[in-house]
Amino acid sequence: QLDSRVQDLPRDELGELGASLNRLAERLKETNELRKKMTADVAHDLRTPLATVRSHLEGMIDQVIPASPENLESLLDEVKRLTTLVADLQEIAQADVARYRFNLEPLALEPFLAGLVQQMTPLFQKKKLRLALRVVQPATVRCDRDALTKVMENLLSNAHKYTPSGGNVTVLLEREETQAVIAVQDEGIGIAAADLPYVFERFYRTDQSRNRESGGFGLGLTIVKELVEGLGGSVTAQSTPGAGSCFTVRLPLLPE
Ligand code: ADP
Repeated sequence: QLDSRVQDLPRDELGELGASLNRLAERLKETNELRKKMTADVAHDLRTPLATVRSHLEGMIDQVIPASPENLESLLDEVKRLTTLVADLQEIAQADVARYRFNLEPLALEPFLAGLVQQMTPLFQKKKLRLALRVVQPATVRCDRDALTKVMENLLSNAHKYTPSGGNVTVLLEREETQAVIAVQDEGIGIAAADLPYVFERFYRTDQSRNRESGGFGLGLTIVKELVEGLGGSVTAQSTPGAGSCFTVRLPLLPE
């Protein structure tokens, strides 16, 4: 039955149908490849910290590694990293399945950012970093407070992670025509030009952060991008290796 209906279609429509079926097949294949790659990446990322925790615990049981507070602390750090990975994966799965269900409300960015900066200051002080908010122009957006909090926490925690002690991190707020602009500027290790286009991709980490113990799993910026785009905005990155990075979030201003 379907066959005869397909035969009745004019030639160009048939061609179009064929082409879109091909595109669909292509996309399904890509999605499948991506899923396979992601599973392999997750397995790899889980294996390393688990192996560390396991060998240390075994060493402690066999009494070849002392169960000192420092050793236990470093095990706790590994467990914390694993917890973050699981939370990030959950976040991404949620975004994939249902897009986010945003609770949009008018949000004045100046008090919102001031609160966030105040809340994160002790963490920055611990590492002898200065965290400051600079408001060039106040702005109000229609936004989901929790989602924007996650975005800012991710960007600030990267700035914190990748800036050596003594550096400055500045959150800048201004307006640009119909957009509110929030920039997180740091004086950290920076990102090489070759890496910059990929930092928002899943599991992407630069070699520099792969070699650091404090590095995450390369999911934070993926979450940032998905959330910001879900909110109708955009996020970009600029960086000078050795001098610092700047991540800029643009969100549509609430019409007056
Ligand atoms: P991670 O959890 O590994 O930090 P992200 O997705 O947040 O993952 O970031 C991806 C990569 O981009 C990081 O591994 C790091 O190499 C680089 N990066 C992100 N933010 C900064 C920054 N502020 N300064 C330098 N490098 C950064």
